[in-house]
Amino acid sequence: MQTVWVLGDQLNRDIGALRDADPETHRVLLVESTAKLASKRWHRQRAHLVVASMRRFADELRSAGFEVDHRRSDSLRDGFREHVDEFGPERVLATEPASIAGLALLESLDVEIVRSNQFLCHYDEFAEWASGRKSFKMDDFYRWQRRRLGYLIDADGEPVGGRWSFDDENREPPPKDESFTWTDPQTSALDDIDRGVLDDLPDSCWGAEPDGTWATSRRRALSRLRHFVDEVLPGFGPHEDAMTTRSWHLAHSVLSPYMNIGLLLPGEVCDAVQEAYDRGDVPINSAEGFIRQVIGWREYVWGVYWLWGTEYRSRNELGADRPLPPVFTGADTEMRCVRACLDGVNDRAYNHHIQRLMVLGNLSLLHGVDPWALTDWMWSGFVDGAEWVMLPNVIGMSQWADGGMMATKPYAAGGNYIDTMSDYCGDCRFDRKQRVGDDACPFTTLYWDFLARHHDRLVKNPRVARQVRASERLSNLDAVRERAVEVRSRLDAGDL
Ligand code: SF4
Repeated sequence: MQTVWVLGDQLNRDIGALRDADPETHRVLLVESTAKLASKRWHRQRAHLVVASMRRFADELRSAGFEVDHRRSDSLRDGFREHVDEFGPERVLATEPASIAGLALLESLDVEIVRSNQFLCHYDEFAEWASGRKSFKMDDFYRWQRRRLGYLIDADGEPVGGRWSFDDENREPPPKDESFTWTDPQTSALDDIDRGVLDDLPDSCWGAEPDGTWATSRRRALSRLRHFVDEVLPGFGPHEDAMTTRSWHLAHSVLSPYMNIGLLLPGEVCDAVQEAYDRGDVPINSAEGFIRQVIGWREYVWGVYWLWGTEYRSRNELGADRPLPPVFTGADTEMRCVRACLDGVNDRAYNHHIQRLMVLGNLSLLHGVDPWALTDWMWSGFVDGAEWVMLPNVIGMSQWADGGMMATKPYAAGGNYIDTMSDYCGDCRFDRKQRVGDDACPFTTLYWDFLARHHDRLVKNPRVARQVRASERLSNLDAVRERAVEVRSRLDAGDL
């Protein structure tokens, strides 16, 4: 008998080494590593998602006739060795893992590594696409992906609707009409498997108990996909970037955790969206906006993670070295936007991309938080977190710590942006228009201070030069800087 070793983010019968496995000739190994569970302060719902999904996947494989060795071990390495000692397999096969450290581990063991099909663009293909290009921006990659994969492409090989991107139709603020509602995501009742997993999680886990928001089986993940495409996707486009206290999900798919652990594959997700568009059920700005997130952003981030390697994690172009403020780990705050986002993290291990980028990421960028500290917090705190997701998205996109390898400008903004895209500011104790004084919005103060602090570096950047010059002309720049010192010290003390 041969063994197929399936990692906790490869939970799909059609992935790599498992695709050609047969119960007559292959058994399956799954290892729950206590070292991995203890390696970070994981959000309870993140840890539960992975472990419960592994246990359900093991049951599915048993139902399909496989012998499954699902073991809890001190580490992945120990689990592998224990399995080999007990079963003596002829060969052990594994699909390429999703992390550089995981690949190094498998290469150090006697494991045959099978090419992964978990992404639509393998990182070798991405490296080939990127080679020889001076800059390789997401937009170029996205067009290349659209053409070669054929999503939303007409018979002449051109984008349907006559444009590659409808991003400018995806930036509406939340509707002012308070009676407007968004379709709730599906939920599932917890069962004995869930309760067993929760009993086994380490005390270091934090955050609210799972409430059935996140599916932990392929069957339920497929049901979530169907629900999204049929009920939610038509309204996805317009409010993609909006934030509101009235809904944590708006019209977002909330499918990323399933794609990131293999319960869903990106191809089947995009196929379902393409079919809905072809039937005329979904407008182009919603279909294109969603396909862009999956075959564009998601696969681009995957590609650059492998291209730039482990050195990328130590990038810190702006020399940011402050610790993560206590508000991220439980301190109270009067900043209504920050409170809303952190409540979302605590309650569901989830924020959508604009909350991550323009509230929590923005605050960290303006404050000068060590980029790795924020990366680690987001990786362990979000239900869809993974190293490949967080390194490019946080180090590059959010904190501009790579000096522009990923983003052409730092995503820094004051209270005005947050007010435009949300309903947070109206009832906030701070005033988004004020730069100085006790009522000044911390984002607004820190935004102008950030531009002034990094003047010499940013004034040469055409995408932000105008704002940097405006900061030079502020009549009260000294007072802004004074207030920024106070804001920073209160953030560090967990008292803002
Ligand atoms: Fe956030 Fe400032 Fe708006 Fe308050 S006023 S919600 S702190 S952006």
